[in-house]
Amino acid sequence: MSTAKPEPIQLFNTLTRSVEPFVPKMPGTVGLYSCGPTVYSYAHIGNMRSYIFADVLRRTLEFFGYKVNHVMNITDVGHLTDDADAGEDKLELGSKREGIDAWAVARKYTDAFFAHAALLGIKLPTVVCKATDYIPEQIAMVKALEDKGFTYLTEDGVYFDTSKFPTYADLGRLDIEGLQSGHRVDTRHKKNKTDFALWKFSKPEEHRCMEWDSPWGRGFPGWHIECSAMSMKFLGEQFDIHTGGVDHIPIHHSNEIAQSEAATGKSPFVRWWMHGEFLVIDDSSKMSKSSGHVLTAQALADAGYYPLAFRLLALQCHYRKQLKFSYESLAGAQRGYERLSHLTQRAVSEAGGMGHRATVLGAAAQGHLRAFHAALAQDLGTPQAVAELYSLLEDPAVTPAERISLVDTMDQVLGLDLFTPIPVPEVNAIPAELTTLLAERNKARAEKDWARADQLRREIDERGFEICDSPQGTTLKKRL
Ligand code: AMP
Ligand code: ZN
Repeated sequence: MSTAKPEPIQLFNTLTRSVEPFVPKMPGTVGLYSCGPTVYSYAHIGNMRSYIFADVLRRTLEFFGYKVNHVMNITDVGHLTDDADAGEDKLELGSKREGIDAWAVARKYTDAFFAHAALLGIKLPTVVCKATDYIPEQIAMVKALEDKGFTYLTEDGVYFDTSKFPTYADLGRLDIEGLQSGHRVDTRHKKNKTDFALWKFSKPEEHRCMEWDSPWGRGFPGWHIECSAMSMKFLGEQFDIHTGGVDHIPIHHSNEIAQSEAATGKSPFVRWWMHGEFLVIDDSSKMSKSSGHVLTAQALADAGYYPLAFRLLALQCHYRKQLKFSYESLAGAQRGYERLSHLTQRAVSEAGGMGHRATVLGAAAQGHLRAFHAALAQDLGTPQAVAELYSLLEDPAVTPAERISLVDTMDQVLGLDLFTPIPVPEVNAIPAELTTLLAERNKARAEKDWARADQLRREIDERGFEICDSPQGTTLKKRL
């Protein structure tokens, strides 16, 4: 029941910090690029929140009648442990950690990423492109920047000179002078604090799995250049929307704009920049791979949670607000998901089967659909859209046949797979106080308070539950 002609939608644009009517370059078609995962370890549910946001954006645009060309990269080289172009390549680090080569690390975590994305109802992008498959395009862009005088060479690599790009600070509203004076600039490598590597040289003592020849010497691309080179390859030199997490605003995306516009001479590189806020854990710290406190979609599934309950949790928080994750909130979303599923199955059985959906909607049903539409049209108001779904399923003025029809329509955007009946999960057997104890134990571990962590483990143990720690996170299982 999606609409035939593109309909108006308002989207927040980080460039202007305001909600604006969205107008694509080519009527009816949207070029959308999402910064994808760095595949050196499992993507955690914080990362996945960003991809749920991009997926909802894409689905909403499709629902509103646009044809969306959604491109996502896979960072399988060049992303260093330090955003200031120092530190180690994360993929090479993964290789050392796991005793397999960097190519195998990338394959392993790319596969896991898409498996987890599928669990969360995230559609496969139209194009998935790996950085290592487009090295010549990245070298060509660095060359173009060199020819136009935007680069300089150091003993460490080829750098972009941000002082030659006057609007560098715009996206991040950066205080360049403050940045310069507040930090020591490593003049061995960089002229300005905000300069960044376009190409890095392999060090003689380093044994990299991934390296290539270039006009400047053997090495590998800096992290940022891949997104400019690949987005332009698939979407053209100027396109409509670019997404990522909020942490990308001051560095990665500012760098992308600078190098892209400098290389092509065309502005704007991207008209709409959209950023998803973080998922944070109990103490308001960001869930991050480096903190060690992570959970994956698979770990949630292993513990008996529906991964789609996590998707519901994410949808119930607007993408520009921080989402505070706790086992209590997840358990609440689990109950909500069960209720939505139950109400949907009841509508199907009362209507006499899936085939009995309404083709014409009465006034009450139309009202719910209009409200759903209006919520999404206002910068992806998914919390209100989900509320509308609950409300129609409980509205006596909406017939079972209309309910089936509306759930079908709304699920095109929400992606909750509500027509697939769900089994009763084991997680119902985990009492709330145990999830609190687990959260406290995780916190104690993060604070390296081993005595308290051990004591909490014993308490959980005494209640007949086992703590399962794995690289995918920590969960509880009832002992058999
Ligand atoms: P990475 O794999 O580190 O390149 O990150 C993949 C995506 O996840 C990026 O768009 C990040 O901005 C985003 N991200 C990282 N941590 C979080 C978090 N805690 N909550 C939401 N998004 C995140
Ligand atoms: Zn990117």
